[in-house]
Amino acid sequence: MATDWTVTELRTAVAQGDVSALDVCETYLQRISTANNDLNAFTIILADVARARAEEIDRRRNEWQHLPLLGVPITIKDVICTQGIPTTAGSQILSGFTPPYNATVVTRLLNAGAVVVGKTNCDEFAMGSSTEHSAYGPTRNPWARDHIPGGSSGGAAVAVAARLAPASIASDTGGSIRQPAALCGVVGLKPTYGRVSRYGLLAFASSLDQIGPLTLTVADAAAVFQVIAGHDPRDATSSTQPVPDFCTRLSHDPLGARIGVPRHILTDGIDAQVLEAFDKALTTLTDQGATVHEIDLPHMDYAVPVYYLVAPAEASSNLARYDGVRYGFRADSDNDLAKMYNQTRDQGFGAEVKRRIMLGTYVLSAGYYDAYYVKAQRVRSLIRRDYDQAFANVDVVAMPTTPSCAFRIGERVDDPLAMYLGDVFTVSANLTGLPAINVPCGFTNNHLPIGFQLMGRPFDESTLLTLADAYEQHCPWLAKRPPLAPS
Ligand code: GLN
Repeated sequence: MATDWTVTELRTAVAQGDVSALDVCETYLQRISTANNDLNAFTIILADVARARAEEIDRRRNEWQHLPLLGVPITIKDVICTQGIPTTAGSQILSGFTPPYNATVVTRLLNAGAVVVGKTNCDEFAMGSSTEHSAYGPTRNPWARDHIPGGSSGGAAVAVAARLAPASIASDTGGSIRQPAALCGVVGLKPTYGRVSRYGLLAFASSLDQIGPLTLTVADAAAVFQVIAGHDPRDATSSTQPVPDFCTRLSHDPLGARIGVPRHILTDGIDAQVLEAFDKALTTLTDQGATVHEIDLPHMDYAVPVYYLVAPAEASSNLARYDGVRYGFRADSDNDLAKMYNQTRDQGFGAEVKRRIMLGTYVLSAGYYDAYYVKAQRVRSLIRRDYDQAFANVDVVAMPTTPSCAFRIGERVDDPLAMYLGDVFTVSANLTGLPAINVPCGFTNNHLPIGFQLMGRPFDESTLLTLADAYEQHCPWLAKRPPLAPS
């Protein structure tokens, strides 16, 4: 079987009976078992569950032929609830926890005929940019195994890059889909806030969290996104906006799209090779008829500080529920309740999660609330206003996804500020709720992937997908495979 089959190709082959869902499933399970010891992309591999599901698909192929993801292997980031299957959030504190229900995205994927092959590794509770903060060990980048794959959805990006699944589902609170997608050379879409249901997603920062796909191609991202997008009465923040047909609206023509570029933020601390690849990507788009316009985003300097106040504040509240009573791990405590809470949280959470809880508790505490939390929310509104003004004149905003390519494992793990600053280009999409996509756009001299980002108007993922697809038709980076991808 071809090793680089896309979602669309696989689905068609299964639906037409050219290949059985079980054969597809076995092929991917085989690749996972060859590569995962090295890459550590999975917290759990669901071989038996996947086989049983693939057999069911083969039995009911005639009846299910129309399903949009029929027989397509898919991975789920381990912060998303899967019924009867452990869900760890990369944390010790959830060891032994098995959700009694599926997240809405999982239900929708299964209803569309997908085969879940495993849960992917991530930074603990999705807090991180390198997948080094997982209780289950770091994930490695298939392009260079001593480098980080990005995070927090490192496992999801690695699974796609190394051809261990044609698609992964992950969450993005400040860049966790787009940044690992960039560092692993795959497509990653963070939809508009409210577009995809968060029901069954373990909350990190509820006003920023969104679920989206990682895939090899833009058309695949559209196909998977189509399945998971749409209103869900179980998520009060889920939008009732109608969901357009993303797949047929893909066109190979940028249609004179106006691309806004905030040049003023592309100055300090950006790798020259990243900037060069970004400028080349813009040229590819302008060669096809798009136009580039300089825009001003005056409050972008505050995006990282605002994010690192708002996200920890919400996290400190969301993570209060992990107290040893209801979920997973409970520490020994000599029948002393207060001791049980303290010991459970002390032993169950890792260092980065504790740092965020302390930071968040501090900025929400009496006397500091106005100075930090309220002020951050005000600046957040100014950042959103900057984008609203920019979108009066342009259709999308473009910038690199990350200031540098993948760094070495261990290089930044003891330097939280350096780690946080790497999120400079991704966090504003979450603070504003706007949709954003990472598109692979080349490699450094050391053969490490580079990506660029397009951000769009609220609920205008279509324009992002159309432009990204137009770019990809001219620069198909998919042809280049990482050395650690099994054939
Ligand atoms: N790197 C960011 C953080 O550590 C974003 C994480 C995410 O999107 N889940 O908070």
